[in-house]
Amino acid sequence: MKESRPCAGCKKHFHPRPQSPQQQFCSESICQKERRRRWQAAKRQNDPDYRENQARAQAKWAKANRSYWSAYRERHPDYVKRNRERQRERDTRRRVTSVLAKSDAWAPETGVPSGIYRLSRVTGDELAKSDAWMVRITDVSRPCAATG
Ligand SMILES: [Zn+2]
Repeated sequence: MKESRPCAGCKKHFHPRPQSPQQQFCSESICQKERRRRWQAAKRQNDPDYRENQARAQAKWAKANRSYWSAYRERHPDYVKRNRERQRERDTRRRVTSVLAKSDAWAPETGVPSGIYRLSRVTGDELAKSDAWMVRITDVSRPCAATG
C-alpha cells in the first residue's frame, strides 16, 4: 500500500510520488506555489549569493518598470504605508542591534534591567562629531521630565 501524508500546505492527505519520497506538498498548484515561496524564503535567508542575485534582478526590473511601481503605489496607499512602517522597524532593529553589540561589555556592569527603553536623539556638537549612536535610557514606567 502506498503511504499517504498530510500536505504541508492544504493539510489534505496525498500520496508522495515515488521519485520524491520526501515530498511534503501535494500537487495542487496553490500548494506548489506555497512550496516554492517557502523554498525561496529559506534560500534568501541562508544564501547571501542568492539574496544578492535576487536583489539585483529586482532592482534591474524595477528600473526598467519604474512606472509600474509608481502606478502601483498610487493605487495602493496602504501598501506604501505598511512598507514604510516595516522599513522603519527594520532600521530601528538594526540600530538597536549595533548599539547592543557595542555595549555588550558595559551592560552587565551597570545592571541596566531589561525592558523597553526610549531611544532619543541627542542634539549638540558631541553627536555631530561622532558616528556612534548615543542612547539615553529612561525608565518608561516613570513620567519623563524632558524629551528631545
Ligand atoms: Zn496541498
